[in-house]
Amino acid sequence: MEKIALKLTFKRGVHPAGNKNIAKDIPLSEFPTPSVVSIPLSQHIGAPAAPAVQVGDHVSVGTLIGRSSGFVSANVYSSVSGTVKEFITKRTAIGTKANHVVIENDGLYQESFLTPLTDLTAESVKARVAEAGIVGMGGATFPTHVKLSPRTPVDVLIINAAECEPYITCDYRLCLEKTKEIFEGIKAMMVALGVKEAYIGVEDNKPEAIRALSVFATQDIRVVPLITKYPQGAEKQLIYSITQRVVPEGALPADVGAVVDNVHTAYAIYEAVFLGKPSFMRAMTVSGKGCAKPGNFWVRNGVTYQDVASYCELLPETEKVISGGPMMGFAQSDLLPSTGKGTSSLLFLTKEEVAEGDKPISACINCASCASHCPMRLMPMFIERAVDAEDAAAAKKLHAMSCLECGCCAYVCPARRPLVTSMRRAKKMIKEKGV
Ligand code: SF4
Ligand code: SF4
Repeated sequence: MEKIALKLTFKRGVHPAGNKNIAKDIPLSEFPTPSVVSIPLSQHIGAPAAPAVQVGDHVSVGTLIGRSSGFVSANVYSSVSGTVKEFITKRTAIGTKANHVVIENDGLYQESFLTPLTDLTAESVKARVAEAGIVGMGGATFPTHVKLSPRTPVDVLIINAAECEPYITCDYRLCLEKTKEIFEGIKAMMVALGVKEAYIGVEDNKPEAIRALSVFATQDIRVVPLITKYPQGAEKQLIYSITQRVVPEGALPADVGAVVDNVHTAYAIYEAVFLGKPSFMRAMTVSGKGCAKPGNFWVRNGVTYQDVASYCELLPETEKVISGGPMMGFAQSDLLPSTGKGTSSLLFLTKEEVAEGDKPISACINCASCASHCPMRLMPMFIERAVDAEDAAAAKKLHAMSCLECGCCAYVCPARRPLVTSMRRAKKMIKEKGV
C-alpha cells in the first residue's frame, strides 16, 4: 500500500482561525426530528423538483415527493413517515423562495427504500445516483449524476475531505465513523466514471481522519494530506494541489481530466447504491459560542433552523447566524429556512466571534492585500471599482467571472470592503448586460 507523504497545497489563500475544537470530538448522533417538517423542493442547483405528492397523501421515509424536472435537477424524498399537510412557499437559506412540502411526522419512521444494486456498471451507478437525488453535499448542491457524466473522458476522481471552512466538522466525523462506507462509495463512483485512480484530499489539521482513511487506502485510492489553508477545498485549488493541473478560465475540471466530489457525497452514493437509501438526511455541524449544545448531527431534510436553535440552545449572546461556513456561508435574518441536502452547518456566533467583520467599512487604501491573497489571482479592488462604475466590460476584462466567491479578499481587507458582494454584483452585471 503506497501512500502519498507529501503535503500539497495551492498558491495564495488565507489562514483563518479553524475553531474546529468546539465540535470536532462530538460523535454524530441523530437530531430529534420535530412533529412537522417542511422539505424544500429546491435543494439543488438547477430546476426545482416538481411536486410528486398531493395534500392528504401518506408518505414513508424514502417516498418520492419531488420529481426531478430536467437533467440539471434532482429528486426529493420524504425524510419522515406521515401525512402531507400542505405546500408552502418560503425563504431558503440562500435567500431565494422555494416551494416546500409540509409533512406531519407520525413518529414511526416507516421506510420505503430503493432496491440495492447488485450489478455495478457505469450506467447503473449513474442512474442510481440520479434516482436517489444525490447532489454535491459540500454545500454546492450540484446534481451529482451530471458530474458523473463528464462531456470528455476523465482519468482521476478527487474526493474533497479538506473541510477547509472554519467550525465545520461533519465531514471529519464521517471520515472517522463511516470510513469503510466512504471507500465503497468511492469505488462505485470510479465505476461510474471509468477511472482507475482516486485521491482523498484531507487538510493536515485532521491527523486522526488521515490515519483512519489511510487504513483503507490502496494503490488506486490514495489519501493525500494537504497543507491547512483556505480555500483548500475549492475545486480548482484542490485539483492543483493534488495533480498540479490548472483548470483554465471558463473550463470545467473534466477539461483537465478530473472530477471532484465531496466526501459526504461519496458516503451518500454508498447508501444509495448498496442500501437503496435515497438522499433525505445528512450529517451537519452545529457550532459557535452562541449555542450551549454544539455537535454533529444526522439531520433529516425539512427541520427548521428554529428547531435546531431550540434543541442546541441558542444563547442570547448570539450576534449572527450563518448557514454554512463563516467564509462562504449565508447570514440569516431569521430562523425560518429548513435544512436540506446542502446544509453542512449552522453557526451561532457571538459578538466576540464576529467582531472583526463588524468593523465599519472605510475607503480602499490601495494596499493590494486582497489581490495578493486571491487564489484566482484577481484584482478585487479594481473589479469593485468597475462594479461601482457599472462598467461590465471592465469587470469582464478583469476576469470577474473566475471569482470563486471564497471571501479571502474580504477577509484580509483592512478597510472591510464588501468585496464578495461586489464580485457577485460584477458577475450579475456581466450576465445581464451580455458582455
Ligand atoms: S476575488 Fe473572488 S476568488 Fe478572489 S479572493 Fe475574492 S472572493 Fe475569492
Ligand atoms: S484589501 Fe481592501 S483596502 Fe486593500 S486594496 Fe483591497 S479593497 Fe483596497
